[in-house]
Amino acid sequence: MSLAAKDGVPKLGLRRSWAVLRVVGRYLWPEGETALRCRVVVAMVLLVVAKVTNVYVPVLYKHAVDALGEPATQAVAVPVVLILAYGVARILAQAFGELRDAIFAPVSQRAIRNIALLVFHHLHALSLRFHLERQTGGLSRVIERGTNGMEFLIRFTTFNILPTLFEICLVGVVLWSLYDWRFSAVTLAAVGGYIAFSVTLSEWRIKFVRRMNDADTEANAKAIDSLLNYETVKYFGNEAHEARRFDVGRRRYEQAAIRSSRTLSLLNVGQGAIISCGLVAVMVMAGYGVRAGTMTIGDFVAVNAFLIQLYMPLNMLGFAYREIRQALVNMESMFGLLDVRTEIADRPGAAPLEVTGGEIVFDHVDFHYEKGRPILHDVSFRVAPGDTVAIVGSSGAGKSTVSRILFRFYDVARGSVRIDGQDIRDVSQASLRAAIGVVPQDTVLFNDTIYYNICYGRPDATREEIEQAARLARIHDFIMALPQGYESTVGERGLKLSGGEKQRVAIARTILKNPSILLFDEATSALDTRTEQEIQRSLEEVSRGRTTVVIAHRLSTIINADEIVVLDRGRGAVRGRHGEMLACNGRYADMWRRQQEAAREAQRHLAEEEEPPSFRAEGHLRVAE
Ligand code: ATP
Repeated sequence: MSLAAKDGVPKLGLRRSWAVLRVVGRYLWPEGETALRCRVVVAMVLLVVAKVTNVYVPVLYKHAVDALGEPATQAVAVPVVLILAYGVARILAQAFGELRDAIFAPVSQRAIRNIALLVFHHLHALSLRFHLERQTGGLSRVIERGTNGMEFLIRFTTFNILPTLFEICLVGVVLWSLYDWRFSAVTLAAVGGYIAFSVTLSEWRIKFVRRMNDADTEANAKAIDSLLNYETVKYFGNEAHEARRFDVGRRRYEQAAIRSSRTLSLLNVGQGAIISCGLVAVMVMAGYGVRAGTMTIGDFVAVNAFLIQLYMPLNMLGFAYREIRQALVNMESMFGLLDVRTEIADRPGAAPLEVTGGEIVFDHVDFHYEKGRPILHDVSFRVAPGDTVAIVGSSGAGKSTVSRILFRFYDVARGSVRIDGQDIRDVSQASLRAAIGVVPQDTVLFNDTIYYNICYGRPDATREEIEQAARLARIHDFIMALPQGYESTVGERGLKLSGGEKQRVAIARTILKNPSILLFDEATSALDTRTEQEIQRSLEEVSRGRTTVVIAHRLSTIINADEIVVLDRGRGAVRGRHGEMLACNGRYADMWRRQQEAAREAQRHLAEEEEPPSFRAEGHLRVAE
């Protein structure tokens, strides 16, 4: 299976290419943008003017040659004027062409920008499942190649293919009117043969280009994945293994690239041969005409000039066709992304969530990520407005899944989740997510400053508000102690900060977001006991009056929760307050006892390590003896 198909991006043929062209066409003639549309019209007029001037150049050339061949009694001024006119026509032809490009540039650049933006929006609209299954490296490559391809397509279609086709028609008409129909027929036959040959061979070659792209995407995805896991690679000394994996893709690319370059040479040779045959045929015809006295020497050179002039852009046409096909392949992949269905979409006319008190209800919820592997089964619980509920359970029990469902990264298979009586599937995702603040288990930060990362919680926040949030999250003093303070950069994915610092930044930005509902997914798990207690106090402060869902591993952090839900292998087993749960002597009491025991054990170790120095010295001496 090809990589593109595996990634969920369908491979599509010629019909798809037309669809792509139609979309691009729509963007090049943008609705409601009168200024841009005027530019398109002016560029088209200039295109015609440039080409007409261009076709007139060989005619002036012919007159100049004929004038030079006239008897010497004629004034020398005539050929000189004609030669000057020839020069001016050449300059004008080029100037009109350049002016056309300059006027059209804003139109094409706007189209490229808008389409890239459309794809970007769509990628963010796609579900978490899509992003977890895709490799980011491959995805960014698809977009990069797609936008480059689009730029190329627009440039070459509007500035090369269309003008050249127009010029071919113009030359055909001029040859017919100046000489006779046979000249146009031979010229058009040669051009037709050239185009047919180029198209056929290019179509055949396209599979090598596709293979090259797939291999390139694969190698790139592996490279990015491997670099993202830099530390893991080092821990296991697997550099050679990573290089081999990368090389598999590069080798496939190498092979496809070699075949592509060989077939390109074949194409070039064929195109050259067709051009030369056409040129020779018209020149022979013109030679006969001169001998027969029906044509002048000027006609002979003009015919040659016409064809040479025509073949130059035609040569480019072959190149442009090849490249455009490649660009279309690249764009197909990018546009293929637009065809990927958004798994979690707003219902038509979905109303915004109206949070009145922040009551959360999980009502007989069943959920699975993949068919045949249920994760949650018949989970029900209710969090009263302003209350705090804690979800506990062993690792893999489905605790984080509950938070992902509440945030609507996934939809439930059965049952419903309601906030203040509204099913979260019926309200807009934007309003739902605006109402919930999440501190995730693994915080990932943007590779920017600490200030930027905290400010991300509410981009219009003032500096004071940001610092206040940092104070509440107990990170302000740490930041101030850094040489660059809030302007310190956090590194790729925030890796220059410790786990606890990252978590505190995440807490600060959630505090700044100021949502009605809070969701802490083991928010303090990366902190030491003292900092945890400190932050616990801030979290309690922040969550006062707000509905809060806490996913916790350390039970000591949730003893004050209004309700505790124990998830046991996907089932919401028991619910109650800390005291009640202990009294039940069930799974919760069991977990509590084990954690308490572990804590006592740790205390004992600590106490042993902190024995009186004299005793330690004695021990040391004894060993020395
Ligand atoms: P922990 O305390 O270790 O974080 P958890 O209770 O939060 O565990 P979840 O992250 O909710 O556990 O995962 C519950 C189960 O769902 C796990 O068995 C996990 O393998 C599975 N799972 C999680 N995410 C996905 C996914 N995107 N696709 C498939 N399975 C998944």
